[in-house]
Amino acid sequence: MAIAPQAVEQLATATRGTLVGPDDALYDEARAVYNGMIDKRPALVVRCADVADVIGAVRFARDNDVAVAVRGGGHNGGGLGTVDGGLVIDLGALRGVRVDPVARTVQAEGGATLGDVDHATHAFGLAVPGGIISTTGVGGLTLGGGIGHLTRGLGLTIDNLVGVDVVLADGSFVKADAEHNDDLFWAVRGGGGNFGVVTNFTFRAHPVGTVVAGPMLWQLDDAPEVMRFYREFIGGAPRELGGFFAFLTVPPGPPFPEELHLKKMCGIVWAHTGSPEAAERDLRPARDFKTPVLDGVMPLPLPAWNSAFDVLYPRGQQQYWRADFYNELSDEAIAVHVEHAAKLPTWQSTMHLYPIDGAAADPGKADTPWAYRDARWAEVIFAVDPDPANAELIKRWTVDYWDATHSFSAGGAYVNFMMDEGQERVRATYRDNYDRLATVKRRYDPTNFFHVNQNIRPAG
Ligand SMILES: Cc1cc2nc3c(=O)[nH]c(=O)nc-3n(C[C@H](O)[C@H](O)[C@H](O)COP(=O)(O)OP(=O)(O)OC[C@H]3O[C@@H](n4cnc5c(N)ncnc54)[C@H](O)[C@@H]3O)c2cc1C
Repeated sequence: MAIAPQAVEQLATATRGTLVGPDDALYDEARAVYNGMIDKRPALVVRCADVADVIGAVRFARDNDVAVAVRGGGHNGGGLGTVDGGLVIDLGALRGVRVDPVARTVQAEGGATLGDVDHATHAFGLAVPGGIISTTGVGGLTLGGGIGHLTRGLGLTIDNLVGVDVVLADGSFVKADAEHNDDLFWAVRGGGGNFGVVTNFTFRAHPVGTVVAGPMLWQLDDAPEVMRFYREFIGGAPRELGGFFAFLTVPPGPPFPEELHLKKMCGIVWAHTGSPEAAERDLRPARDFKTPVLDGVMPLPLPAWNSAFDVLYPRGQQQYWRADFYNELSDEAIAVHVEHAAKLPTWQSTMHLYPIDGAAADPGKADTPWAYRDARWAEVIFAVDPDPANAELIKRWTVDYWDATHSFSAGGAYVNFMMDEGQERVRATYRDNYDRLATVKRRYDPTNFFHVNQNIRPAG
């Protein structure tokens, strides 16, 4: 249904930010999200300048019966930050971050990126655990969970969330934290963008400034041995050591040595938050079991490490995603993983196994919606290429890989690593927490106004 021009005019008058529609020169830029495979045409994009604009946009969509997508950083693989024929509430201009170094808390607006938070906190020698690419939105990442280099030591991003400001589906504004709307506060810690537009996140920060970090790479032929080492080693390593396993193709440029360019390899990507001496001690077993072909571990400021991969994954490329949680990694499973790694379809395509033991396993399964507190790894199969002509190729590899390995997995998947797997997978991911999420959804969003997400349907 087309929106009445008069209603759009009224919204434009009431909005401090800008409205972009199909006839505007900026339309193609405003409708684009990070994944170039997503090509949706919203009726209107509202680039909000403040919370009042968000409230106005929500009320406008309600009054005019328009579907809504909320966009934080726009990174979601499934393109959940946009919608065909609907209204995009774009928070991209709301990127303010405020650090309280005394209370060690950080406030980030709903459209801030991880890089914005790292930049602001690093000046105080503090950090909030986030993800591994700095252009990712704090909004979507946090609401889905948040896995990164610091997860083993400091937990998921949601484990460091102390409160949110939310614009609800009826346009009202509420706070949710341990003292206010505790059911809503529970739900936003993993339940995605189902419950409202979060205009502000308050996080607990930690004294982390420098990390000893980098990749160690081995030959792909040695991958079974490296995976077995990793399986045995990481769970017993000190919490200050994070390290995810990866199948990868060596990027064709510096700082990688030319003889390794475009070679398929396997690796462990480390981040240690202790002293260089402690890192040397804790990483010694990885160097000793089989000398890495490349050892790129070095002391780095955390913001540099958290943005080190940005250049490999620029905006606008084709991406296809699949994911699973894993409790164990049997020799049989390893053999199937290696078989598919040998067929990595493009140099940016990869498989990562992120450890979610340590601090991420401390909360109970029902303490937050994140129900896989007992799983050891969150896996993502992530295929990428700049050329739209290769979209089918990367999709086929991802799906084939996932089909072949899924039976070894724990069942569900991290919602932020999923793409378009549908309702069954959303339920599998939240396990016993799904029904409670559906009850909270009924209370705060009974008409499923916020449905462009990994959707929780309101309880009947
Ligand atoms: C290159 C790349 C690297 C990544 N690395 C990691 C990683 O290391 N760790 C990790 O955990 N994840 C990672 N992710 C996944 C990431 O967490 C998800 O893609 C997440 O959805 C991105 O959030 P966003 O705000 O950028 O996305 P968007 O596309 O803007 O939004 C995604 C979803 O969240 C909702 N949403 C976003 N902001 C808000 C808000 N303020 N209020 C209400 N709803 C909101 C949207 O409505 C939508 O449903 C990565 C993704 C990419 C593309």
